[in-house]
Amino acid sequence: MAKEVTLDTIVSLAKRRGFVFQSSEIYGGLNGCWDYGSLGVELLRNLKDAWWKAMTYRDDVEGVDAAILMHPRVWEASGHVANFTDPMIDNKTSKARYRADNLIEDFIAKLEKNGKTDKAAAIAAKLAAAREPEDFYNIIIEEEITDPVGGSKDWTPVRYFNLMFKTFVGPVEDTNSVVYLRPETAQGIFVNFKNVMESARQKVPFGIAQIGKAFRNEINTKYFLFRTREFEQMEMQYFVQPGTHTEQFEYWRQQRFQWFLDLGMNPDSIRFKPHDKLAHYADAAVDIEYKFPFGWGEIEGIHSRTDFDLKRHEEFSSKKLEFVDTVTRDRFVPYVIETSIGASRSFMAFLCHAYNVETVGDAEGEDAERTVLKFHPKLAPVKAAVLPLVKKDGMPEFAEKLYRDLQKNFNVQYDESAAIGRRYRRQDEIGTPFCITVDGESLKDNTVTIRERDTMQQHRISVDSVKEYVMKSLL
Ligand code: ATP
Repeated sequence: MAKEVTLDTIVSLAKRRGFVFQSSEIYGGLNGCWDYGSLGVELLRNLKDAWWKAMTYRDDVEGVDAAILMHPRVWEASGHVANFTDPMIDNKTSKARYRADNLIEDFIAKLEKNGKTDKAAAIAAKLAAAREPEDFYNIIIEEEITDPVGGSKDWTPVRYFNLMFKTFVGPVEDTNSVVYLRPETAQGIFVNFKNVMESARQKVPFGIAQIGKAFRNEINTKYFLFRTREFEQMEMQYFVQPGTHTEQFEYWRQQRFQWFLDLGMNPDSIRFKPHDKLAHYADAAVDIEYKFPFGWGEIEGIHSRTDFDLKRHEEFSSKKLEFVDTVTRDRFVPYVIETSIGASRSFMAFLCHAYNVETVGDAEGEDAERTVLKFHPKLAPVKAAVLPLVKKDGMPEFAEKLYRDLQKNFNVQYDESAAIGRRYRRQDEIGTPFCITVDGESLKDNTVTIRERDTMQQHRISVDSVKEYVMKSLL
């Protein structure tokens, strides 16, 4: 039977088995930054590969990889210099700093938990309407929201804080040399709209996709990989003719939901969440949320952004960013449907989702309980483990040959230490879908047993068909 998973369990498994480590751990760590270990890097690459294939291996989407540093005017045009801010508040007693909107959201959640739903709804409505720093401050004071750390109500005024990391190009640190670490990958796509359309000979509707690092100087980082200061995004901007955008929005909304299901997400673990308030340029927006151990949280946003971005770049660069239809002679600035997913945040969602502790009896001569990561084979960091039953009678040599052969195609592990049941459990805990055991019979008839991770069922197959067997699961 599966057990409830806590975030602490996931964090500790991630460290113990080499998925994720705290950044600069030997120096005490750097808040909001994480390093991927040997299994984590495989899982992350597999996730990005699955997205890349789904999104770009089609006729109408091209890939790019834009620089992280961009011309500073880009961020003026995009609105990030003026508006990419969060409301920040400090508690004078504890000196703790918070995002004012998050502080209010947590308060609302507490009211809901205590059954005070009407009051919660009233505050939520005020929060949705909040624009100015005073709006957030007034809610905190009126509702007598206390500091989660020490319980104090002694708050500073709310200020807006820009989340972009600033740095300088060249040796002189003056205002003319300021650049920003990109807070999203999308702008690298917008500024390349014309380049890609012309060089790839695309016509509207078409999309441009990119995977890359993004940086946000978040006021509070929290929940492991959920909110970090350095993270990876996988974004696609789909350029469409105005008037077709509602239909395209609906298409991408469905596509993106299905992608999670195809990779093994359970329909009860993800949901659509419409936005309470739309950005001024958007005419539709929805999030896909995952049910994390701490509650529902956004993993992807799908936005219908009108022609806002391209028009702003036209204005700021003085370059035309239009599409001209060679048949109808129509010329227009396309509307954009954006799909924006965090690679690191969805990594965490897939890790939480895969985690299971099961009572399985002692059929394999091991503990009655096993921890198993039930990753889709496409995502699993290790696809198969090759295990000689004993370390003698030619089994290790036979197994090692198979291991070397398989290694040319996918990530495989070889393990000959400890009892076979113990080795199965080790592979279960890192989510390896197949364990291939070489025993006495293997040397006689060239067969091996293949054990399926989820059912623990075993069957014999010819050693020559192992590669194809595993490959099939990766299609
Ligand atoms: P949030 O409201 O959680 O801050 P957002 O609405 O600002 O997120 P977007 O700007 O739409 O997020 O970014 C798209 C995706 O990038 C998010 O769905 C999320 O998966 C990821 N993402 C955004 N900020 C972070 C972060 N600080 N750490 C990790 N992933 C992030």
